[in-house]
Amino acid sequence: MEKDNVCINCYNQVDKVAKVLKLGQAELDILTIPKRILTFSFPVKLDSGDIRYFTGHRVQFNDARGPTKGGIRFHPEVNLEEIKTLAFLMTLKCAVVNLPYGGAKGGVMIEPKRFSEAELERISRGYIREINSFIGPDIDIPAPDVNTDAKIMAWMLDEYEKLKGGHAPGVITGKPIALGGSKAREFSTSMGGAYVLQEFADSFKIKLKKASIAVQGFGNVGMNIARILHEWGYKVIAVSDSKAGIYNPKGLNIKDVIAHKNKTGYLSKFKNAKEISNETLLELKADVLVPAALEDQITKKNANNIKAKFILEMANRPITPEADDILLEKNILVIPDILANSGGVVVSYFEWVQNSMNYYWSEKEVLEKLKTYMTDAVKELSKVCTDFKCDLRKSLYINAIKKILEAERLRGNLK
Ligand code: NAD
Repeated sequence: MEKDNVCINCYNQVDKVAKVLKLGQAELDILTIPKRILTFSFPVKLDSGDIRYFTGHRVQFNDARGPTKGGIRFHPEVNLEEIKTLAFLMTLKCAVVNLPYGGAKGGVMIEPKRFSEAELERISRGYIREINSFIGPDIDIPAPDVNTDAKIMAWMLDEYEKLKGGHAPGVITGKPIALGGSKAREFSTSMGGAYVLQEFADSFKIKLKKASIAVQGFGNVGMNIARILHEWGYKVIAVSDSKAGIYNPKGLNIKDVIAHKNKTGYLSKFKNAKEISNETLLELKADVLVPAALEDQITKKNANNIKAKFILEMANRPITPEADDILLEKNILVIPDILANSGGVVVSYFEWVQNSMNYYWSEKEVLEKLKTYMTDAVKELSKVCTDFKCDLRKSLYINAIKKILEAERLRGNLK
């Protein structure tokens, strides 16, 4: 078989569990070579009247368990290797939470801040024109990701429907509610993470009632999880954004912090709190540390200084592999990203189900269902951990890979 398309990052991840699962060459190929890779360039007319060509990618990694699912990002550093890795991680994530999906990811290499809203609309529509024959509610379902949002999903949906000549809301998720979006989608990633944390405390018999929490990042994910955990009675002692962090060992009133940030645009100068740097926040003596900002925040440089007992990885890949090994040795329990932040894709799945039924659920119904999916996934993980005597990250990989290979085997694609 042609091996040029092997995803190297995926190979390195799969290799860690290859021995435990006794994977042969055919299995390794299925798990490390994407099923379909699209790379294309497309023209867009700028406001100046000039025409510029943009590069886009869409990788559909594996569809054995169902249509592929994954976001579209607009970022200057978008490249094919990264999109392949993210599509692979989506395949695992969907398997971990038992969604009937495979994994995909897409992106356009642009700095969105440099374009007007009208230009962004034309770029979004141009991207969909290129991939429209390869996506669909039963084929591949995109969603928002870095620098793309509900407004962009609305333009993309509209372009797809114009090309196909009919309504097809299930082709894309993360849409505005008026176009078939789901209730609770906006804070679903954070709510999913909060359910995971709570279930961990129950399943692993950990007392978290009076736990202190430090949250890095105060955007969609960080702000919402800080708010939810504060509302549930946890003591959120520190939060930060790209500019500053604030800390009060007795706990911050997150409702007031949100109001302060909305009013001033900053976290700093919040009353009754000490200003701290992001580095200090990560090294605070908190029971739970929640990285919810960027990748590579805990590295071999600062891993030895981490004092938290648990880390809930709400950001994607906030801990480097070297740091992960150090934390494991220090007995710090890391709840990995492919489980912790999967609440967003679970509610995306609910959005797709509601679109196909043309029947919509209340926020209460959505959250009840989300809780069931997240807590079931933690229970399943705790069993895999016991059966295979592995750390959480390895156990999640083992669990997801077993499910993907089972689907491939049942289809006759593996012996
Ligand atoms: P966002 O852009 O809304 O927020 C990011 C936050 O991080 C902002 O508050 C920003 O100020 C802060 N930040 C940036 N650099 C920082 C730094 N050096 N130190 C501390 N804070 C910094 O993004 P988001 O949607 O909240 O996503 C956060 C993370 O969660 C990303 O890794 C994303 O991939 C992941 N994630 C998001 C979702 C989702 O549904 N939004 C789903 C799964 C995973």
